[in-house]
Parts: sequence; C-alpha cells; structure tokens
Amino acid sequence: MNKKYELIYEGKAKKIFSHDDPDKVIIEFKDDATAFNALKKAKFKGKGKLNCLISARIFELLIKENIPTHFIEIKNENKMIAHKIKVIPLEIVLRNIAYGSLCKQTTINSGTTLAKPLIDIYLKNDELNDPLLTKDRIELMNIISSKDLNFITDLTLKINNILKIFFKNIQLQLVDFKLEFGYDIKNNILLGDEISPDNCRFWDLNQKNDTIVSLDKDRFRNDLGGLIEAYSEINRRINDFI
Ligand code: UDP
Repeated sequence: MNKKYELIYEGKAKKIFSHDDPDKVIIEFKDDATAFNALKKAKFKGKGKLNCLISARIFELLIKENIPTHFIEIKNENKMIAHKIKVIPLEIVLRNIAYGSLCKQTTINSGTTLAKPLIDIYLKNDELNDPLLTKDRIELMNIISSKDLNFITDLTLKINNILKIFFKNIQLQLVDFKLEFGYDIKNNILLGDEISPDNCRFWDLNQKNDTIVSLDKDRFRNDLGGLIEAYSEINRRINDFI
C-alpha cells in the first residue's frame, strides 16, 4: 500500500484507508476470520480477495436496482474504493430461515422457513457482545431517528427481495444476512460494509436430499473445513451467472 494512504480504522476482517479524495475510502479485505465475538480466530489465504470480489458483484447488482450503497469500484485484488460514511452502530440482521442465534434464544426450530422475513437489530458494540435491541432501546440511546430506522428496515426488505431471487438463480438459499448502514457527507443513508459469505448464510440447493450444506462462514464457526472452497464456489456461481 502506498505510504500516503493512511490507515483510518482496522476491524476484524477489513482495514479502512484514506483516499486522495477526502470523501472516499479504500477498503482492504483481510484474510482473517473471527467468530463468537473474536473468541475464535484463524487466517484463510485468499479469503479477503474472494470477499472483495463477491461484495463488489453484489453491490453492483444492488446499485442497478437503485439501492444506495457505498461501493464505487474495485481498486485491485482485495481492495475496493467506497464513499466515506459515518457508520450507524447497528447490525441489521434479516432472516428468511430460522438458524443460529434465533434458535438459541427462542423455541423456534432450526431450519424453519419463516412466514415473513424477520428483522433483528443488534448494537454494534464488541464490549457488550452486540446485544439484541428493541425499538424503544434504540430510541432511548438516540442512535437514529425513527424515520431513518424505518428507511433502513424498508431498504433491508428490498435488498432481501433482490438477493433472494438472485441467489436462488445460482442454486443458493439465502438463509440470513447482516447489513450495516451509514451516512455520507450529504447525510444520505448508504448501505455499507460487505455482502459476502462472512455475513450471509448460504445453503446449497444443489443437494439431492435435505442435508444442509453451508457455503459460508459456518464452515469456520462449526469446524466443517473447506471454507476457501465454499467461498470460491459462491464466487464462481456469481460470475458464471452475471
Ligand atoms: N452476522 C454477522 N456478524 C455478526 C453476527 C451475525 O455478519 O456479528 C451474520 C451471520 O453471518 C448470519 C446472520 O448475521 O448470516 C445471523 O447471525 P446470527 O444472529 O444467527 O448469529 P450467529 O449464529 O452467527 O452467532
């Protein structure tokens, strides 16, 4: 990385660097993987590049469908250029099928198809272990206006409609995913972060029986092995289709 690009922020899976244009940033996707609030850590060579490519394709698809996102263009292998945003400290999770934490915290059986998508909102705060919020708690903390929160949840439902169809076409079931949003310099709300197998659950629909084959970070969370193979398969199917 050229010296003049200053590291602004380093997260668990990405680094954010300054850009010549102060309204833009460079996002570098790392090979690091973490799970269970970083209690479990590993490195997978090539993961950063795959997540950068997959995210770029998905952002392009969403932009075509008039979803405002921070994505501008790919810079190289594992870096993209994006609009600088002030990240809203909320993790918006949308679930089509019950799995993961939803099944640990409720009596809903794992694998249940939900009658309508469920949106769960968590506080983006590692120290507090990203707790599940309520609308009233969000209001109490003054994180976001109810108008902007409604805008974000509506956008999340629209994104789900686009992505569910897209992934079905490439034989993937979109089980759930996590989104993050932020404000650009003009105070517009943009979709930020990434959309990749790190923050989405994808089940392979190319299976003859009902066995669940995860092609996402569950391969790491649940010690299934074959993470890079799974991410490469997602990337291959996306590129073959587009
Ligand atoms: N997720 C994420 N970051 C988090 C928590 C969840 O990207 O800090 C994603 C996760 O990959 C999945 C969805 O959000 O696609 C729902 O995750 P869940 O709440 O079931 O948590 P988990 O079972 O992963 O602990």
